[in-house]
Amino acid sequence: MIEVENLVKSFGGFRAVDDASLRIETGSITGLIGPNGAGKSTLFNVIAGVHAPTSGRVRMDGEDITGLPPHELFHKGLLRTFQIAHEFSSMSVRENLMMVPAAQAGETLWNAWFGRGRIAREEAALLRKADEVLEFLTIDHLRDERAGNLSGGQKKLLELGRTMMVDAKIVFLDEVGAGVNRTLLGTIGDAIVRLNRERGYTFCLIEHDMDFIARLCDPVIVMAEGHVLAKGRADEIMQNEAVIEAYLGTGLENKAKA
Ligand code: ADP
Ligand code: MG
Repeated sequence: MIEVENLVKSFGGFRAVDDASLRIETGSITGLIGPNGAGKSTLFNVIAGVHAPTSGRVRMDGEDITGLPPHELFHKGLLRTFQIAHEFSSMSVRENLMMVPAAQAGETLWNAWFGRGRIAREEAALLRKADEVLEFLTIDHLRDERAGNLSGGQKKLLELGRTMMVDAKIVFLDEVGAGVNRTLLGTIGDAIVRLNRERGYTFCLIEHDMDFIARLCDPVIVMAEGHVLAKGRADEIMQNEAVIEAYLGTGLENKAKA
């Protein structure tokens, strides 16, 4: 579904992504791991149109999407989750979901939420959709809670929920498990698997927790110093000499969790 070809992203003279090439297959849950500073988030940001690449190509289903802005990628079904923005924190969980289709399409928050025309006409449908998403994620009891009051893990679920308000094809998740307790991490993992199996979402996720990666992801891609070091099943990757060395020989599992 996604093909990245010889991608380079420099900041000043420093190549955060240095000639990275990889493929994300349709229907996969692909893991992206690597030591801190390997260039994982930068790679995501280039694919998702947040940063323009210095050189190289990104294709989606064969079509060149290099450097397209996030809202155009959004229309193609390519989504990257973002933390709930500050201005959304005083709104309810349900309202946060309902504004996604308009807000992500490049409209301002003001137009998206307070504009009287379109949203009002679509409100009933949006409401139904939001409630369906909340039920799917098993957080329907939080629908009227202010988004700012959610725990770290609940916020991650809401971020995932935002991708379900539209017809996503591929979703990029950057450290969805960071600071999330075991129980909620399990819920997030279950939601990812169900979205993959039942709704055909393709996922690419960056995560440090190797248990989480091993449970969900096949294949796993390892990045180090801006390029792709290895790709394979989680168990293969954890035996791979070059990968172990990239994590400085301190044990993949421990280092990865640090
Ligand atoms: P990872 O997500 O794998 O930890 P990042 O992609 O965040 O790595 O960062 C890769 C390297 O690029 C790091 O050395 C980081 O300091 C650098 N970097 C990332 N973003 C910027 C930026 N906007 N300006 C300058 N350097 C950056
Ligand atoms: Mg990162």
